[in-house]
Amino acid sequence: MTSSVHSRTGAAPRALRCAALAGAALAAALVPLTAGAQDRPPRTRWETQARALLEELTEINTTHSVGDSHAAAEAMATRMREAGWPAEDVIVVKNADRKGNLIVRYRGRNRTRKPILLLSHLDVVEADPKDWTLPPFEFIERDGVFYGRGVADDKDEGAIHLTILLRMRAEGYVPDRDIIVALTADEEGGPANGVDFILRNRPELFANVEFGFNEGGGGRIEEGKKVSNDVQASEKKVANFTIEATNPGGHSSVPRPDNAIYQLSAALSRIGTYHFPVRLNEVTREYFRRQASLVGPETGAAMRRLVADERDSAAAAVIAKDPANNSRMRTTCVATMLTGGHAENALPQRATATVNCRILPDETTESVRDRLIAAVNDTGVKVTVKRGAADSPPSPLEASLLRMMEQTTQELWPGMPVVPTMSTGATDSRFLRNAGVPVYGISGLFYDNPNAHGMNEHVSAQAFYDGLEFMYRLVRKVTAGPGM
Ligand SMILES: [Zn+2]
Repeated sequence: MTSSVHSRTGAAPRALRCAALAGAALAAALVPLTAGAQDRPPRTRWETQARALLEELTEINTTHSVGDSHAAAEAMATRMREAGWPAEDVIVVKNADRKGNLIVRYRGRNRTRKPILLLSHLDVVEADPKDWTLPPFEFIERDGVFYGRGVADDKDEGAIHLTILLRMRAEGYVPDRDIIVALTADEEGGPANGVDFILRNRPELFANVEFGFNEGGGGRIEEGKKVSNDVQASEKKVANFTIEATNPGGHSSVPRPDNAIYQLSAALSRIGTYHFPVRLNEVTREYFRRQASLVGPETGAAMRRLVADERDSAAAAVIAKDPANNSRMRTTCVATMLTGGHAENALPQRATATVNCRILPDETTESVRDRLIAAVNDTGVKVTVKRGAADSPPSPLEASLLRMMEQTTQELWPGMPVVPTMSTGATDSRFLRNAGVPVYGISGLFYDNPNAHGMNEHVSAQAFYDGLEFMYRLVRKVTAGPGM
C-alpha cells in the first residue's frame, strides 16, 4: 500500500501494513524481538516450499533506490520452471530498468469460466541497515518469527501464491478455471507500477479476469487476540490540492493589513475544522454492521444507529472519536506541506500549502475541490488540483464468494467473523477496480503489528503457515466448479 494514516494501536490488519504507521511503527520498533517464543519449523512439504521462496525473495533487495524487482521476478520464474511449470505459462515482464513482474498461469479444465488473479507485489519500502537492529535483506528466523524487509509486505503473499500453484499441480488438482499469479513492481510508490503497466501494455496477461485477491485485508489482532478475518473490498482515493495566497508584498518594516501568510493560515484553519459529510457505501455499511458487535457497547450502538440512518450526527460523533473510523465514514482532507515568503525582511508575496485528501470511492476530485473552496470562504485564496484521484469503485460483496471466505475462515478459526473493510490508504487493487475487475484484499494472515515499512519487519511463522493453508483452501473453493 502506498500511503495512509491509521491511528489504532495494538491492531495490525493487513490493511495497515503498507500504510505509513508512524506512531505505531515507532512503538513496535522498540520491542522488535519476541522473547521466549517457540521455534515453529515447517511441518509439511508445502510449508518448507513456501518458507524457501519467502527466504529467497527476502534476500533479493527490491527497493527502488538500489534494488531489482526484475531479478526477483526472474528468480521466482526459475523456481517455477525447475518445478516443471510449462515455460509458456511463466512470463517475466520487464517494465523499466531494475523493475520486473512475474506472471504465472495455471491452466484450468473449463475454458468457459473466467480466470482468477492472485496478486502481490515484489518491491519493498527502503530499509537502511543503520536503522535496523537486524540486517534487513537477510531472512532470519528467531523464536518462531521471520524477520526481513518484505516478509510481511508483501513477499509473504507472493511466496504463498506460488506455493499454492505448486501444491495444486503436485496433487493433480486441476482447477475449473485458470489461476493467474502475479508478483509485480512498484506498488510502494515507485515510478514503474507493474499492474498499471500490464493493464496498459500487456492486457492479454490479465484478460477476462473475473476477480482478484490481493493484499489489503487479513487477520486482525487486538490486545493479542484474533478478532476478525478482514476482507478489503474498497479503498479511498487520493488527491492533492494546492492552497495558495498571493500578495503584492513590500518591506517588512511597514506591514500591511493584508498578508499572504496570515491569509493562508486562516484558510487552513477553516479547512482544519471542516467536516465532510458522512456517506456509507455497501462495504462500509457492512463493516460497521459487523464491527458493532466487536467493539464496546457505546460505540457498537452508535454504529448500529449510523447504519440505520447515516444522517444520525450524534452517532457519527461517537464513531468519529476513532480517527480510523472517522476516515471510513467520510472524505478527509489535511494540510501536509507548507511554504511561504521569500526573505526574512520582506512581506510575503506568496504562501502555499498542500492539502492531501482521502476521498470516498463515490465522490470526485471536483466535488471535493468545491467543498474546500466553500470551507476556505475567501475568493483571494486559490484552491487548485495538484493531483486528481483515479476512480476505484468498491468491489461488490458477492454472496457466494463471501460465503466461501466465511467457510474457509470457520475451518481454520471456528467462530471468527469475516468483516468487509474499506482501506483508508491505497493498494494496487485500485488499478484493477478502475479497469472494472473486482479485487478483494484477503490473506488469512494474522499480524500482531508486523512493523511493515519500519525497522525489523516481521511475521510469525505460524501466521505465515496458517495464511498458506487458508489461501490454498479458499482458492480450491473458488476454482472447484459449480456444485462442488
Ligand atoms: Zn504492500
